[in-house]
Amino acid sequence: MVNNVIEVRGVSKAFAGVQALDDISLEIAPGEIHCLAGENGSGKSTLIKVISGVHSPDAGTVELGGDVFTQLNPMDAISHGVQVIYQDFAVFPNLSVMENLALTTELAEGRTFVNWRRMRKVAAAAIAKINVDIDLDEKVGTLSVAQKQLVAIARALMSDAKLIIMDEPTTALTKREVTALFKIILDLKARGIATLFVSHKLEEVFEISEKFTIIRNGKHVITCLPEDLDHKKFSYYMTGREFEGSRFEPELDAVQPILETFKLSADGAFADVDLSLRPGEILGITGILGSGRTELALALFGALKVDSGELRIEGKPVVLDSVRSAIARGIGYVPEDRLTEGLFLERSIGSNIVISEIDSFVSAGVLDQRKADIEAQRWVDELRIATPNVENAVSTLSGGNQQRIVLAKWLATNPRVLILNGPTVGVDIGSKHDIHRVLRDLAAEGLAVIIISDDIPEVLQNCNRILVMNSGRIVSELDPAQTSEADLAALMSEDVSPRQEEG
Ligand code: ADP
Ligand code: MG
Repeated sequence: MVNNVIEVRGVSKAFAGVQALDDISLEIAPGEIHCLAGENGSGKSTLIKVISGVHSPDAGTVELGGDVFTQLNPMDAISHGVQVIYQDFAVFPNLSVMENLALTTELAEGRTFVNWRRMRKVAAAAIAKINVDIDLDEKVGTLSVAQKQLVAIARALMSDAKLIIMDEPTTALTKREVTALFKIILDLKARGIATLFVSHKLEEVFEISEKFTIIRNGKHVITCLPEDLDHKKFSYYMTGREFEGSRFEPELDAVQPILETFKLSADGAFADVDLSLRPGEILGITGILGSGRTELALALFGALKVDSGELRIEGKPVVLDSVRSAIARGIGYVPEDRLTEGLFLERSIGSNIVISEIDSFVSAGVLDQRKADIEAQRWVDELRIATPNVENAVSTLSGGNQQRIVLAKWLATNPRVLILNGPTVGVDIGSKHDIHRVLRDLAAEGLAVIIISDDIPEVLQNCNRILVMNSGRIVSELDPAQTSEADLAALMSEDVSPRQEEG
């Protein structure tokens, strides 16, 4: 019988107040491609850090090559063939590919004088191991994300690796780059090197993984084979919740539109946009990148100047010449890139939530902190934001929870129209469902919602109407109940530039 490359037994690890890992066990055979899945905050990175000797577990053991460790340090892990490719790859951007690769050995061998010829040989050999084409003299900082990752993998293979661990390796890769990465993982397998990788994207990992371990809240949920899983089960194991696949079909009374546009145009961005939005609706605006969808959203929020056409709120023509004027009229906007546009990451969760309505907690120049805290806590509860304390910095939260803070911040201003641009981009399954549920509840209470998104299932399931944008124009209005995913995809990517008559 071949020994496993690693056996993790009963590992637990707590950080102040958080049980990050609770009695986790995991084993991986030589050459096995093993996927570690779990929602954000479930303990994946912590487990990787225990396996690689960065964190000491509070309980449990890690067995590597027959040696059983209760306290593993990084050198033990490396000398037993464990290599980690971190999300930031830990490469040195100012150094060349060659230097990045060769310095590891130069340093490890305690050399004082750099021998360039030897370095080049070492580096070339490392790159040859993964059989890719990268210029050794290029500065790593100028490489694409995928190439940086390859350099990190090549470097990991320079020592006698038996297990390569990759933390969310596909996050920033294109489809083609993912395919290339998978080919490398299969090559490693052929040489008996096992891969443990972290992911929460089933579509992607399904084709390559031979075994899955799913964890939730630091606890082991299941270890299984791909044939034991489908989307529904995968979501269930990760979140512990069943998600109904119902469409959003609101009862719309004869309410007047709250927001309307007539031939709204912004030069170079979009033209002749007619739309109307009623309270209680979730209107989807979809289109590929560059279709004008984001520009339209920004115009509706007073952040992009329009050149012609009209915008009406409750039937009255208005000019939204600034974000301030849009907010004053009850329009809220949750931006696409929450990290750069939406939040003060180092400030507390509480202050981020109440910041846009801080005026209402100030009387006679004094902030009523208690009132502000109550309001913040209300939204934390309402949106199920996973934090032990609203005083914690937003940067301590996962992406999905940060996205909920952005939402909470806008809801605290009591908007009548809420525009969300890519509300669930990069968000894990559970948070995604929560955000959708919240939007449906809000619409049911009379909020008018616009979801701008190119996530086809998202708009088909959660919107009661969909406008498709293509090359700056609205090319069709769809009833999701009558539209298939394929139809919608085709309309989004259709070539609508003027065509020649066929002769
Ligand atoms: P994942 O990688 O699955 O998203 P993590 O392993 O990073 O999850 O985190 C698991 C839990 O442990 C989270 O609640 C996280 O906030 C907490 N945690 C992780 N690292 C630390 C740390 N160094 N200090 C305090 N809490 C931490
Ligand atoms: Mg992580």
